[in-house]
Amino acid sequence: MVKLAWLNGVYLAADEARVSPFDRGFLFADGVYEVTAVYNGQLIDLDLHLDRLERSLRELGFPAAPDRGELAAVHRRLIVDNDIREGYIYLQVTRGAYGARDFAAPALVRPTCFAFAEAKPLIDTLAAREGLKVITTPDIRWARRDIKSTGLLAQALAKTYARNAGVDDAWMVGADGFVTEGASANAWIVNPDGDIVTRELSSTILAGVTRARLAVALAEAGLRLQQRSFTLEEAVAAREAFSTSATTLVAPVIQIDGLPVGNGRPGPVTRRLQGLYYSAIGADPGRAAPWLFQES
Ligand code: PLP
Repeated sequence: MVKLAWLNGVYLAADEARVSPFDRGFLFADGVYEVTAVYNGQLIDLDLHLDRLERSLRELGFPAAPDRGELAAVHRRLIVDNDIREGYIYLQVTRGAYGARDFAAPALVRPTCFAFAEAKPLIDTLAAREGLKVITTPDIRWARRDIKSTGLLAQALAKTYARNAGVDDAWMVGADGFVTEGASANAWIVNPDGDIVTRELSSTILAGVTRARLAVALAEAGLRLQQRSFTLEEAVAAREAFSTSATTLVAPVIQIDGLPVGNGRPGPVTRRLQGLYYSAIGADPGRAAPWLFQES
């Protein structure tokens, strides 16, 4: 099936979309993006993603953001025309092409806006069922990780490092020994006291939409969350660990740097939070994720 994409207001076959090599997204990674999950044909937390997109653009000094209503309509049309039940919509906005390579950004911005859809299971995946193995790597990224920039080289290298090491993901660790986040996910632990811990928001990490939604869901269930930094040592000694992102939702982490987390299998708190999150996005955990209720 031909995949339908959207580029600067025009719907077209994804492999026919073309942008200029002078686009500042290509030359300088001068752009931002969002990935919004789709479950049961519905967008998950699109408003929060568009809020974050607008914030990222503001922080990069874009004079305006693309029209929010139009972006929402594009998301919905890409779901329908690509027949997406479960998957995601990718949206990227760059500062556009100006026919010259000038480090200084133009005052008048003609952005390049691109979106495409991908069908992909989100809930019933090997990662969600069996958990992820991660290794750790120094966090070599820039200092504004709160901006969802397309400058993803450090994360791409971290993920490649993990893949080449035969594991699923890399957790990045700052020079101070504290875990920042996964290559494309927020990092969480359940410590030996049973506290659920994830790093506090700051410019050192991305404010994940899945993180935010899970924080609300767990508070509604009467669970408490500690938002604070944790060290790699704490992560390795944790009872459970997991990561959150729009495309992996809540994924257990069962191994860090070759050492099992807890008993090396997804733990009961992680299973409970997976269930809470799936319910929050309108899934019936019993049907969508029956393995949640099996003994691990
Ligand atoms: N942290 C980083 C570095 C990411 O790239 C992502 C997602 O791409 C996340 C966290 C999770 O964010 P979200 O839950 O909004 O997908």
